[in-house]
Amino acid sequence: MGMTVRPLRRLLPLVALPFAVSVFAAACGGSPALATHLSSGCRDGDRVALTFDDGPNPPYTGQILDALVNAGVRATFFVEGQAVEADPATVRREIAAGMAVGAHSYAHAKELPDMSQQDFAGDLRRSGDAIAAAAGLRPALFRAPYGHTSDTMLRALREVGYTSIGWDVDSEDWSGAPADTIVANVLDRAHPGAIVLMHDGGLGGGHADRAATLAALPRIIDGLRGQGYALVTIPELTGAPASHDAAQPREATCSAN
Ligand SMILES: [Zn+2]
Repeated sequence: MGMTVRPLRRLLPLVALPFAVSVFAAACGGSPALATHLSSGCRDGDRVALTFDDGPNPPYTGQILDALVNAGVRATFFVEGQAVEADPATVRREIAAGMAVGAHSYAHAKELPDMSQQDFAGDLRRSGDAIAAAAGLRPALFRAPYGHTSDTMLRALREVGYTSIGWDVDSEDWSGAPADTIVANVLDRAHPGAIVLMHDGGLGGGHADRAATLAALPRIIDGLRGQGYALVTIPELTGAPASHDAAQPREATCSAN
C-alpha cells in the first residue's frame, strides 16, 4: 500500500494544474482543438465583470484606472500590443492595482479572422511579447477585435493556452453616445454573470476621446452595486486564468453558462 501512495503524492502537484485546466475546459464545453470562448460568467451568481478595450490610451486609461481604484473595483483591460509598447508604464499600473490584463491583438487589424493560423499566431505572439516586456507576465486571455473570431484564431489561441473572451452587455460607448446613455445601457442590460464591454482607447492605436466613458464609470459602479452586484475580473468571474506565469484562483465551474 505505502509504495503506491507515496509516488502518487509526489505526482500530485504535477497532476493538479492540467487537471484544473481540463475541468475548466470541460465545464465550458467546446472542441478540444479550439480555445474556449466565453461571453459571460456564471448566471447564477451576483457578479459582473467590467472590461475595457483598446488601451493604453493616455490620459483616459490612467483616469479610468484611478476611478476603479478609488471605488475599490477590479476590472479587466484588453490591451493592444502597439499601444502597450507606447505606454508600458500604464500596463504596469494596471497589474499593480490588481486589474486583469489580456491581449487584444497587436494593432486591431480587421483581417485577423481571415489570416492564416501562422500569421495570426505571429500577431498573438507580438502582443503577448509587448505585455510581457511591459508588465512581466504572459497573458492567457484574448479578446478579438470587433468580437470577430474564427476557428483558425481559436485553434491558434488553443495552441498557446489562451481563453477567448467576448461580452454579452455592450455599453455602446464606442458609438459616441453621451455618458447618460452609456450608464443606461449597462444598468438596463446587466444580469448575473454579465461581461460588460467598455473602451478606454481607440481602434488601432487611435487616441480616442473617452471622456464619456470616464464620466459614466462612477455611476455604472454605483448603479451595479445598487442592483446587488459585486464587480470582479474576468478570471474571478469565469475561472479562466489571466496569465501563464502565476497560479490563478479558479472559481467553482459554472452549472448554468
Ligand atoms: Zn477593440
